[in-house]
Amino acid sequence: MTTLDTAPAGAAGEHAPVDGEPCVLIKLGEVVLKGKNRELFERRLADNVRAAVRPIARVDVIRRHGVFIVRTKDADVATVDRLAARISDVMGIVWAHRAWRVGKDVPSVERAALELMDGRTGSFAVRSRRRDKRFPMTSTELDRHIGGQLADAYGQPVRLKNPDHTLSIEVDRDEVFVYSGGLPGAGGLPVGMSGRALVLMSGGIDSPVAAYRMMRRGLRVDYLHFSGMPFTGPESIYKAYALVRELDKFQGGSRLFVVPFGKAQQQIKSSGADRLAVIAQRRLMLRTGELLARRLGGGALITGDALGQVSSQTLANITALDDAVELPILRPLVGMDKIEIIEQARRVRTLEISELPDEDCCTLLAPRRAETRAKIDDLRQIEKRLDVGELAEQLAASVQEHRPVYGDAGAA
Ligand code: ATP
Ligand code: MG
Repeated sequence: MTTLDTAPAGAAGEHAPVDGEPCVLIKLGEVVLKGKNRELFERRLADNVRAAVRPIARVDVIRRHGVFIVRTKDADVATVDRLAARISDVMGIVWAHRAWRVGKDVPSVERAALELMDGRTGSFAVRSRRRDKRFPMTSTELDRHIGGQLADAYGQPVRLKNPDHTLSIEVDRDEVFVYSGGLPGAGGLPVGMSGRALVLMSGGIDSPVAAYRMMRRGLRVDYLHFSGMPFTGPESIYKAYALVRELDKFQGGSRLFVVPFGKAQQQIKSSGADRLAVIAQRRLMLRTGELLARRLGGGALITGDALGQVSSQTLANITALDDAVELPILRPLVGMDKIEIIEQARRVRTLEISELPDEDCCTLLAPRRAETRAKIDDLRQIEKRLDVGELAEQLAASVQEHRPVYGDAGAA
């Protein structure tokens, strides 16, 4: 027997097989969008859904008012489960429901409802809605009718407030969808709707979360990582690779660019930058990032800075960083505290990777006391001695490109 949800086995009732097909019913985010933006949103989202599930199955994405229906030929329940799980990571989606798509008549709804609730224990409620009013029963009548059938068949109590299970019925234009439960999505906007940007990606906890939050606002992102090579091992690159591979589930087609930064750091150190070394190197990272972003058609840089989190992230230092480039620097974590960021990293599944040990390139030149009030004039003096424009050009020209793909096994 097949079930469309994680119903416990046993207590199988006698009921006719469902005459319908399993599918994924998607609820869209940002429903306030109107007119042309809504059209853009929906088209982009449909493309992104198709791309995300391509390794699993070829699907049809049918756009209805406020929902998408994802169908695939000869769908079996296991495939639909995999589709729903994958789809719930696509930005712009609020819910991915594994649903039965059945005929627009009461007996078909009854059969699907019995199938879905088979073997479940605890209280339940039926919630119906009609996107199309041409149906022999109103929502309330349908709730009562199906609720009665289920109570008769399985003997479970109906409870309208905080039920253990909710059976949802949605009457649509050509069919009815019946489902119970679903996978919550991240909401936000479809990736690509807001343009493209470059994430400065360390191996730490913060920058992956920053990337996630900006993808959620519709940016397609590329990633730039600076390793301490040749003076450190490649561990930080493996970490950045693993992080990008995990984050790739939110957009697909991710690119990671890696710059060996060790020699440039040594130059900064011997330039007498001293307490300003950390800021000088961050400015050099940003300059290099700007050159690369322009090459990739990116309109912004993204970092994991949070105000006051470490000594390089004071207001004065953030000002000194902004001064180094013309592109806007987006800092989606600026007002978050570390506990919130860690929570989000856990949910996004990057935390475990970020916590792996590595030799961060930044430890190479950490001075005994870092400057918390960097003066831009002093930084410009140092950069003049370094010929920083030329240095950034060289670094940007030395990038190595990687393509971490979500779901691919193995290391870099
Ligand atoms: P994270 O947890 O992201 O490493 P952090 O709290 O350790 O951040 P910093 O080390 O000061 O803070 O770095 C601040 C930001 O600078 C990072 O979030 C990232 O965007 C960028 N950054 C730092 N180191 C690197 C690096 N090696 N490669 C690319 N970007 C970096
Ligand atoms: Mg760091």
